[in-house]
Formats: sequence, structure tokens, C-alpha cells
Amino acid sequence: MVDRTLTLMAVHAHPDDEATGTGGVLARYAAEGVRTVLVTCTDGRCGDGPGGVKPGEPGHDPEAVAAMRRQELEASCEVLKVSHLELLEYADSGMMGWASNDEPGSFWRTPVEEGAARLAELIRHYRPDVVVTYDENGFYGHPDHIQANRITMAALELTDPTPKVYWTTAPRSAMQRFGEVMREFGADWEEPEAAREPGAAAEPEASELPDMSEIGLPDEEITTWVDTTAFGGRKFDALAAHASQGENIFFLKMGKERFTELMGVETFVRVKDTTGAALPEDDLFAGLR
Ligand SMILES: [Zn+2]
Repeated sequence: MVDRTLTLMAVHAHPDDEATGTGGVLARYAAEGVRTVLVTCTDGRCGDGPGGVKPGEPGHDPEAVAAMRRQELEASCEVLKVSHLELLEYADSGMMGWASNDEPGSFWRTPVEEGAARLAELIRHYRPDVVVTYDENGFYGHPDHIQANRITMAALELTDPTPKVYWTTAPRSAMQRFGEVMREFGADWEEPEAAREPGAAAEPEASELPDMSEIGLPDEEITTWVDTTAFGGRKFDALAAHASQGENIFFLKMGKERFTELMGVETFVRVKDTTGAALPEDDLFAGLR
């Protein structure tokens, strides 16, 4: 048992990922007195501009989008009571196959060692007890999410052992229900399967929504189920801070109650552990307090 403030560090790719993927645990653990550190790797410049203008369309100004999304991120952190926000400020690489993948400064083009060295500095500074990031497929194949996984795992090799390390995931049992709700609220869920392979060309207008058969895990492979339903409203409000992004709007259409039903339990795979806490577990800090 440690006699000091526990620290959770979440490493995310874009402004808004902190809300969708880990809004529940960030809010819950902050309320429990845990220090929460959010590292956001990119500036989100390939996101939607004001009025829903898409990257590559006339009037899409990447610098202005990045500035708007920075403000949204700060508002989200306020809602989630994130203790420290750290920005690596790489350029958003866009979806797999976009020309922006290869732009100077893009996160995808940044050597893993370079990003890892910067993140390792933050890990040495904050000494997190728990680190959370994406799985090796970046949950749904987005290059910046894959890169976030790579720099995180490499940074952990450069630093003293972090007691617990997790990848976010979703239970397959929830996927069907998720798809139903998505269709009900008008999201186009079935479209983008052709663009999933690394290197395959994707149209900029392709939906950001993933091919469901490739994301998430069978329930029995999920090690950690954290009930954050009491913080569903917070998570919803954090996502609402990112309302400029088209893919968030369908979540917001659901309203808080449906959203919390659907997104209230956050699930993870534990990939490193020095505590020996028994699995499955219902707390990222099991074995640490
Ligand atoms: Zn993202």
C-alpha cells in the first residue's frame, strides 16, 4: 500500500478522446482524491471546423480548428476535474491513408522514440500508479491512436515500472446494442470497412465510425470493468464540450440517461501489473490502496 496521493495518467490522441474513452474513470477517480493527468498527443487539426466543415473542404482552417479544439479540451478537463493537462502538440494525422498522415509534424510521422522520450519525461515527473492508453490497433485503427499506444508502451520501457498499465476496450456483448443505438440516432455505422487496413486509402468523407467486428474484445478477455454510472452526467457534459465534432453529436442526441446506460461502464485490458490484484477486477487501483 502506498501512503501518498495516487495518480492516474491517461494518454490520448485527440481532444475529445479523453471524454469518450475515459471520461468516467477520470471523473470517478478525481472524485476519490486521485490525481489525474491527461496527456493529449495531437492538436486535432483534422477535426471538423465550425459549422461542421470537414478537412479538405473550403473554409476548413486547420489552425483555427486546433485552437477551437484546445478550448473545448480545456472545458472538458474542467468538467472531469482533470488535475493536469499536458499537450504534446503534434499535428493530427487524420484518418489512415489521408495525405495529412505524412505532413511535417504529424504524429503518425513522428519517430516513436521521439514521442516516447517526451512522454517518458512526463512519466518521470508525475510517477503515475496507473497508465491508460489504447490497444495496438488504436481501438479502431486511427493512426494517431495507434501511435499513442506505441509511444506509451515505449515510454514505459524507458521509465521505472508503472504498477498498472491498461488498454481501453469495449465488450463485444455491448457492440450489438451499441450499433442499434447508433442507427437509432442516425449515425452511419456500417459504411467504412474498406478503409480499415493500414495503408488503404480512405476518403476524407468516410465516417469516423469503426467496423464493429474489429473493435473490442470478447467479454472473457476483458480484465477490468469499472462502474462509472454515477459519473455518466459528467462524462456526457465533457463530451458536450466537444460538440463541434460530428461524431460526438449522435452521443449527445441520446441524452444523459441513455448515454449513461450505454457508456456507463468503462472496460480495460490490464497489460502490465506489479500488484498481483486478482482478475477480473472492478477498480484500476485494485491492489494499490
Ligand atoms: Zn481520436
